[in-house]
Amino acid sequence: MQAHTPTMFLMLLMASATLTIAAAVAVRFKERNGMLFWALAMVAQTASYMLLSLRGHLSDGITVYGANLLLSVSIALFVEGLFEFQQRRPPRWLVWSPVLVLAVFFAFLVDRVAERILLSAAIAIVQCAQVLSVLWERRRELAGRGKYTLAFGWVMLMGMYGYRGIATAQHMGEVSFLVVANPRIQAITYLLVSMCLIVISLGLVIMLKEQADARNRDMAMRDELTGLTNRRFLLESLHQNLALAQRAEQPLTVLMIDIDHFKRVNDTFGHLSGDLVLKKLASTLISRVRDQDIIGRLGGEEFLVILPDTATEGACQLAEDLRACIEATPFFGEDGTLIPVTISIGLYERKQRTRQRSDDMIGGADQALYRAKENGRNRVEVFPGGAT
Ligand code: GH3
Ligand code: MG
Ligand code: MG
Repeated sequence: MQAHTPTMFLMLLMASATLTIAAAVAVRFKERNGMLFWALAMVAQTASYMLLSLRGHLSDGITVYGANLLLSVSIALFVEGLFEFQQRRPPRWLVWSPVLVLAVFFAFLVDRVAERILLSAAIAIVQCAQVLSVLWERRRELAGRGKYTLAFGWVMLMGMYGYRGIATAQHMGEVSFLVVANPRIQAITYLLVSMCLIVISLGLVIMLKEQADARNRDMAMRDELTGLTNRRFLLESLHQNLALAQRAEQPLTVLMIDIDHFKRVNDTFGHLSGDLVLKKLASTLISRVRDQDIIGRLGGEEFLVILPDTATEGACQLAEDLRACIEATPFFGEDGTLIPVTISIGLYERKQRTRQRSDDMIGGADQALYRAKENGRNRVEVFPGGAT
């Protein structure tokens, strides 16, 4: 099949321009999710192709130099976008130094077709490697598979530049290279770049959607005020942990925690101070439990801690530790006044060799908590009997 290079270039230019418009429409300035940088990267890319299309009308010093510089700027902008998407500060000098190297050395090579192609290919390969390494560094924190689609696009682009560099090096001595690049190499370049553009854009769309989905899932299971998990998540977790513990015949214990006389705190110091107490209490409790323990806000000023693989004795120690820790922690209202805060805790361990439901555990812990309140507050009580 005969490839018509100018037509392929026109297709690439049109694809790039269309994707640029689509990306620009999707930018929301307030959301720092990388989209603004990616749209700017597309603008730089399209501008680069536009400059190239003016070859013959303007000097090579403007068109070829400008186009190559813009392509390099476009990849650097893409890297900036990736850093913003990952909520990280980019190491600016590292991101932009390849652009600087190209800007300086390309100026000496404008009249040497093969050498300038080799230089721009080498720098583009370094920049593609940068994109891939930024993606690789945070691969675990990024849920979903969009990152692989994106990485595939960049590996393809890197391969394309590799091919372009090697093929150019092989054909360097040919007469055609005295004025213009080899048309066959150019045709393959345009074809591969068009494919990469599609794959990379698709990868970005999937990645952004997956990030939004992960955020929504997180919001649905989190309590807004304290940042702890919410009632829905806690009840689901308890259900799952109970099933697991019953199958593995392991102990499982829950602690129900309630702030003493919290109504008084609100009435005396105001609702905002009450909220501050809830926040600090949450952060203090979470810093005290183990990673495998699950803690959340059941509602109001009540919290639940699920302790997998923990029996009454260990759970009692932890509960007593939490109680004493809260008693010793200074809490402050919004105007800085000291607020005395204590908690009562009800403890319930699942019964061995008996099928139980999560409601039984919540009910048991609630009864123990009720007893802790009756017996004077600021204490731990175990269901069915015995205080610590
Ligand atoms: P007890 O020692 O028996 O637990 O007494 P208490 O006053 O803590 O119990 P009660 O259940 O009567 O009061 C709970 C209070 O918690 C009432 C409500 O105003 C307050 N509360 C519930 N949710 C919030 C919240 O999100 N922010 C604030 N500031 N207060 C809340
Ligand atoms: Mg309560
Ligand atoms: Mg209370």
